[in-house]
Amino acid sequence: METQNPLPSEFDTERLQRNQKRLDDFAAEVLAASPHSIGYPGNQNTNLRDFYKWYYESGLYAIFLNNAGDAFHPPVSALQTHVFEKEVIDFFAPYFGFNNGHWGFVTASGTDGNCHGMYFGKKVLQLRTGLDPVVYVSVDAHCSIRKLADLQGLEIRLIQTDDMGHIDLADFEANLDPTRPALVVIALGTTFTGGIDNQLGIDAILTRVNPPAVYRHVDAALFGSILAFLPEPAKDLVSCTKMHFDSIALCGHKFWGMDEPAGIFLTTQSITQSLHPLHVEYMKDAVATISCTRNALAPLKLWWKIHFSDIGFFEKQAQLLLANAHYLQSQLKAHGIPAWLNEFSNTVFFPRPSTRIIDYYGLAPDVHKTFGNLAHVVVMPHVTQEMIDTFVTDMAKDYASGVA
Ligand SMILES: *Cc1c(COP(=O)(O)O)cnc(C)c1O
Repeated sequence: METQNPLPSEFDTERLQRNQKRLDDFAAEVLAASPHSIGYPGNQNTNLRDFYKWYYESGLYAIFLNNAGDAFHPPVSALQTHVFEKEVIDFFAPYFGFNNGHWGFVTASGTDGNCHGMYFGKKVLQLRTGLDPVVYVSVDAHCSIRKLADLQGLEIRLIQTDDMGHIDLADFEANLDPTRPALVVIALGTTFTGGIDNQLGIDAILTRVNPPAVYRHVDAALFGSILAFLPEPAKDLVSCTKMHFDSIALCGHKFWGMDEPAGIFLTTQSITQSLHPLHVEYMKDAVATISCTRNALAPLKLWWKIHFSDIGFFEKQAQLLLANAHYLQSQLKAHGIPAWLNEFSNTVFFPRPSTRIIDYYGLAPDVHKTFGNLAHVVVMPHVTQEMIDTFVTDMAKDYASGVA
């Protein structure tokens, strides 16, 4: 039965019209800003119109759904989308080399995935050794890792990076404690410069120093999905078979074009089982996730994207992003503007332009230890060559007038 909340008691047409106008103005503003928002890794090509059409016409829009519990051991309730969630995880697992008993769930965000990676790592290492681990992460990795280490009461050691953002292996080795278990968080890639940590280099040091136990979590929130859809050697970097990581976090609202925050967390069944999660009677099962209530709509949207798109489309998109990032870098350089781009990265960084350009394009600013004041563009699927040309023309004018 469909019902609506009653209108405000002092029913006042003028007030309702005013509120309606506020919403309409807001929508118009957002729609106008979306195409030239190129500074953050949100994909503005969400392409969910037909999903919403089905969602409305099926009547599901009127229903509360909740994926509380575990999609791999769903509790008995009709009001969830666990079957679709598990199929989403099953779809992603082989792209990340999980061929031998995987486990995972659709997370609330990239940070949520990192939170579970670090929590699982902490628990597994404590169980194996009876000791508290040390977290190792580079100074250029996403800021969520530091907050999560603080939240989870973990000692953290920040490792230096080179100018392009890659972890400094010598500094990692110098900081690695041979007496404590190591929880290594790998940046794939770094937030500002898009640098990808050298996983095999990290591995060689772990083997040499030989701490009592090791857990590797990969923060691949942005790059993970792009690299997985590229040919070798790019896809090897996100394969747990080739890179030996224990868990990985991805975002759904970046490459995958979700219209709300969501992500994917993947690990192995053996990791999950070794956690001995608490048995929760009223959930009729053990709950491996930190949060109880979880979004049921996000898995349905991801499932829809997987099953109502040609997968070749995502491979083409991944290639296009990197090609367009190279195009942006070369066009900036052709106009005499320094611009940097890492291998397998869609993030181009350059000297910080005027506030006008920063604001209009929604650019992210940063202060770099060697290159000074910078900004970056993250080339996502809605960033076309036409948009890049307009942006470069704007940048060139700015640069010529000596603003940058
Ligand atoms: C976006 C991003 C995050 C954070 O993800 P949220 O969904 O914003 O919480 C973490 N790490 C990296 C590398 C990212 O690109």
